[in-house]
Amino acid sequence: MDDDDYYFDESDGEYGGSSYSLEEDHGDDLNDLLVEEPIEKIWTTASVISAESLLAAQKEVLQNVMSLLLINEQQARSLLIYYRWNVQKVYDSFERKGKEPLFQEAGVVISDDRDLDILGSSTAVITCNVCFEDVAVLDATKMDCGHLFCNDCWTQNFIIRIKDGERTIRCMDTKCNAICDDVIIRNLVSRKDPCLAERFERFLLESYVEDNDNIKWCPSNPHCGNAIRVDGSNVFEVECICGFQFCFNCSLEAHSPCSCQMWKLWVQKCGDESGNTDWIIVNTKPCPKCKKLVEKNGGCNLVRCRCDQHFCWLCGGACGAEHTWSTIAGHTCNSFTQEKEMNFLAVKQRLQRYMHYFNRYMTHADSLKKENTLNENIQRKISESENKNSVIKDYSWVLDGSRQLLRSRRVLKYTYPLAFYVFGDELFKDKMTPEEKEIKQHLFEDLQQQLETNVERLSMYIEKDFYDFNDEQVMELKYQVVNLNRVVNKFCGQMYKYIEDDLLEPMKHAVHRIAPYSSGGPNMLLQPSSSSGNSGDS
Ligand SMILES: [Zn+2]
Ligand SMILES: [Zn+2]
Ligand SMILES: [Zn+2]
Ligand SMILES: [Zn+2]
Ligand SMILES: [Zn+2]
Ligand SMILES: [Zn+2]
Ligand SMILES: [Zn+2]
Repeated sequence: MDDDDYYFDESDGEYGGSSYSLEEDHGDDLNDLLVEEPIEKIWTTASVISAESLLAAQKEVLQNVMSLLLINEQQARSLLIYYRWNVQKVYDSFERKGKEPLFQEAGVVISDDRDLDILGSSTAVITCNVCFEDVAVLDATKMDCGHLFCNDCWTQNFIIRIKDGERTIRCMDTKCNAICDDVIIRNLVSRKDPCLAERFERFLLESYVEDNDNIKWCPSNPHCGNAIRVDGSNVFEVECICGFQFCFNCSLEAHSPCSCQMWKLWVQKCGDESGNTDWIIVNTKPCPKCKKLVEKNGGCNLVRCRCDQHFCWLCGGACGAEHTWSTIAGHTCNSFTQEKEMNFLAVKQRLQRYMHYFNRYMTHADSLKKENTLNENIQRKISESENKNSVIKDYSWVLDGSRQLLRSRRVLKYTYPLAFYVFGDELFKDKMTPEEKEIKQHLFEDLQQQLETNVERLSMYIEKDFYDFNDEQVMELKYQVVNLNRVVNKFCGQMYKYIEDDLLEPMKHAVHRIAPYSSGGPNMLLQPSSSSGNSGDS
């Protein structure tokens, strides 16, 4: 261990000169700096609901409520949609308010007699209060709430509502809050438009996901068909069984330690025109003749537009083509006032600040892409190594190291938009004193720098073509990878802790909560077992 870079001399010369040393104590002094403290967190669990098990999962919840309140499936569904499929809330309301108010509030009507026998024989005629036509009792329907209208009017109303995407369709009586029985809705609509009746049925099934605060569709594109259930904190990152990693709170890609709001703003800023306004102000000027934006090319202040018009970059005024280092022939420029210059400089500074963070962010995004490819090829490298005539058969540490590399590269990538907002004026203007900001920014960048250095080092080792190594070289590589894996993981944990406790917590901004760090990356979900959620069928 006297010479760290002995084994990798040819491919890597700079390693020996680095500040990070594993000599003697094998990095233990570094670990002393990284004191591990338990991070307080809400216990959160997540699971996948596949398209096939969605119906069963919904049935189970319905069954629960049906047996507790002794109501039918339609009533239970209306109640659950009202309470956003939160069974606990239904139970709480039931205990607190009692059965009647619970139903009334949700628009659920419990009625014992729906039959129309009381109206007399089947040849009886009633007047519909919507169309004012006289219709046979057989061609009219009375809902649980007691309101009776002709089937044509009901059907017409249902069709409009379903086409509007409504899942809870209320009674046509203007003063009535009751939700119509979905069995009746389906029966009436299917006589006229079977496809629409099917769509309504799908709506009801999807309501279990779409009206549910704890369940969301996996946002993968093309959609994998799965839904994800999260119990606990919504600010949580998951990996669907389809492999897509996302933030459960905003359904965008997993973006911690950036908060959802920061990430949304950053994506907008990088993506659309408005993010480039500063660039346009700094680097272009409209031609005085054709008004098209002209980009300044090089240092000369005499600019020529495509329309052949020359103009002075400083004032934007039209001028001739002759110029020296300091003057343009026939053009004296007085309008470039001090005020304009100040304004321009502020914009320029703002742009430079953004570009600073953006460039580093992109660098890590690029590295992440490359390392993703590397990770895909690593299994092949391992297979080749395992088939070698060697005593070393265990290469799981390479896989672990590679996964950690991807994980921490992501962390690094998202620390740049985070820093852009935390230390900028856009979201947190005047939240810190300049002195406080300077100290915190310094500490943050220190941590970021250390993480960066070690991530780059881990990346360098993971890239090695270790199947060409002899056993001694492999053992040395293993030692480095295992060690750096641990170090990088600790730095990531420290980074999250610093961001949560020192940067975001004092802002008292609940919207800027971030998903907790876990060394394995977003919570990887498992294939749901086929037996789960089927109890409702029995
Ligand atoms: Zn009618
Ligand atoms: Zn009614
Ligand atoms: Zn998915
Ligand atoms: Zn988010
Ligand atoms: Zn022009
Ligand atoms: Zn020139
Ligand atoms: Zn000028």
